[in-house]
Amino acid sequence: MGYRSLVLIGCFLLAASGAAKRKALIVDGQNNHKWQETTPVLKRLLEQTGLFDVEVATAPPKGADMSAFHPDFKAFDVVVSNYNGDAWPAATQAAFEAYVRGGGGFVVYHAADNAFPEWAQYNEMIGLGGWGNRKESAGPYVRYREGKIVAENKPGPSGHHGKAHEFRVEIRDSAHPITAGLPRQWMHAQDELYDSLRGPARNMTVLATAFSDTSTGGTGEHEPILMVLSYGKGRIFHTTLGHYLPALECLGFAVTFQRGVEWAATGQVTQPVPEDFPTPTGVRSRPLGRD
Ligand code: ZN
Repeated sequence: MGYRSLVLIGCFLLAASGAAKRKALIVDGQNNHKWQETTPVLKRLLEQTGLFDVEVATAPPKGADMSAFHPDFKAFDVVVSNYNGDAWPAATQAAFEAYVRGGGGFVVYHAADNAFPEWAQYNEMIGLGGWGNRKESAGPYVRYREGKIVAENKPGPSGHHGKAHEFRVEIRDSAHPITAGLPRQWMHAQDELYDSLRGPARNMTVLATAFSDTSTGGTGEHEPILMVLSYGKGRIFHTTLGHYLPALECLGFAVTFQRGVEWAATGQVTQPVPEDFPTPTGVRSRPLGRD
């Protein structure tokens, strides 16, 4: 049975049980990435699960007056950030902190972890961030070495990636609902492999890493790729994956994103792992625009 069939059965069960869909909000509007092209893909991936009604809040463009940007975060079960741009107004920041602390779900997608280097509570939520002149004051580097996650406080910049390439993602915690049932290793489609992120890294569990090979311009370290965090009563899923469309077409990205958003929203994952999930040696992609 294929993924499509499983999704259809999932939708039927959901409908039969009469469960209400969860409300998801994607925030975009500024990014050094093509948010106009990636937000519709993220929205579609969430809608394909049958679990979410999805809205989008688009901030004013860079340099414009931000004072009226104030999404009603608390009206949603989960907020997905596809935003990397100007600071939000203080009242919007405070509302977002209160939303997550009070039990709201938050999903950090790719360059959203570049955002807001000066906003301390945002960095507590994302655990690790990059660029934006972050350095040792932002917190340690976090890597997987000799069987465990280690933090390293040496001086240095934060945020880097080598040449985009296919790479193997390695699950480091298979007990978490997001990663339960996934192959321990799987090949990811061509993407940026973020390295050298720094941050407070508190209340954070690294679910998956990838080896950043020096031959592709990387660090020679196993770098964090998927993380979960808690902030107050809130649940946070952080995926560094998804630079652009080839990466978003990867079933490994799609499935971990869909499961991560569900977990952030509810604390559970009800979606089955599709049979055509990528293997330790083979990328599996689903062209955009198809179910
Ligand atoms: Zn990128």
